[in-house]
Amino acid sequence: MEALMTQLAQVLHMNQGNGETSYDRNSAVGRKAISIAKPVIEEAVLKILGSDVMGIESMGIADLGCSSGPNTFLLMSHIINVIHTRFRTGLDHPSPVTELRVYLNDLFSTDFNSIFMSLPSFYTKLKQDYDNGRDSYQHLIHPLISAVPGSFYGPLFPRKNMHFVHSSFSLHWLSQISDGLNNKGKIYISKSSPQRVLDAYSMQFQKDFSVFLSSRAQEIVNGGRMVLSFLARPSTNPTAEHGMYVLELLAHALMAMASNGLIKEEKVDSFNMPCYAPCAEELIMVLQKEGSFITDRLEAFEVDWDTVAPDDLDHDQVAFDDDDDQVIFSGQQVANNIRVVTESILEPHFGKEMMDDLFQKYAEEVSKHLSSCVTRPKYTVLVISLIRNF
Ligand code: SAH
Repeated sequence: MEALMTQLAQVLHMNQGNGETSYDRNSAVGRKAISIAKPVIEEAVLKILGSDVMGIESMGIADLGCSSGPNTFLLMSHIINVIHTRFRTGLDHPSPVTELRVYLNDLFSTDFNSIFMSLPSFYTKLKQDYDNGRDSYQHLIHPLISAVPGSFYGPLFPRKNMHFVHSSFSLHWLSQISDGLNNKGKIYISKSSPQRVLDAYSMQFQKDFSVFLSSRAQEIVNGGRMVLSFLARPSTNPTAEHGMYVLELLAHALMAMASNGLIKEEKVDSFNMPCYAPCAEELIMVLQKEGSFITDRLEAFEVDWDTVAPDDLDHDQVAFDDDDDQVIFSGQQVANNIRVVTESILEPHFGKEMMDDLFQKYAEEVSKHLSSCVTRPKYTVLVISLIRNF
């Protein structure tokens, strides 16, 4: 069990670079989630600034599961902008926050270099945005950015050092899941999965999330806050069809390859995707049991499977002649989005040489599914705003 966990923390990373199947080019779903969560983030940061949290002169903020960009930059500029706007509007001038420590965390094999390479243009843009505002650059607090590689299911920062912790689209990744569940022909919870599969996923989530909370509880000051966004499910029934059906379709693609003799069926039976979409009730249950945080807000919203950022669109691509073109395009889009986040885990199990065929077949499966859907399939996302309570 321990060996599998170590392996996951070492292998998982979003696809690197900026090619067609890179996270950089396929992170629109995450971007959408951050932009919908913006008001919740803003409210949490303003409440921290409005309280007399100890040591606020040196404010510590973190993005956990930051990946290699570009969404973490969106988040950072939003938070920095909230802080500056708050003090620019004259409520409290000059700002009591004189130092802004920003920590970007992700697993070991994340492409941190690509974040570092983007920092000069991030700083330039920050300065430009600020200069375009009403105040002058000399009042801008230059963020001190560090990278913190490691699993958020354990300690990351010195004790009582952080004021605001954010994590988006990351906590649905489990630290591990057993490969001995014999989940026949499936790679996630499915209607046909035996109870042991449902229990294993739910128990692992509860254990991991509880460790996450107790680790952050050590690091966040009293009155400090967290805003966490999860892929979730709308119903308490884990086998009801919801957004994670994307993984059922991935299992279909794998089984199609197995029936063509390209991979062994047992390989599919022994693979379980180490992620889990909890329902709100489950989240609240773990929060209450662990006890270090009070829930300030909990909201659910939906994001289309085939979300594309407006600036990612090539206009020729979307001038569809008919619905068939639309579902083929959307099927490919969903397949790319799923490929960039799962390929690093699938590759060691099924073989690197299988990946192109697998995701080609998967895009077809998704398109077929989309054409049979009456409404556009969506992911459910839960955003939760928490306060550290001593
Ligand atoms: N927050 C970004 C990235 C989401 S992708 C966005 O919204 O676009 C999920 C990220 O979580 C991946 O980069 C993955 O490596 C990271 N992740 C998963 N498990 C993790 C863990 N245990 N500790 C730290 N990061 C983790």
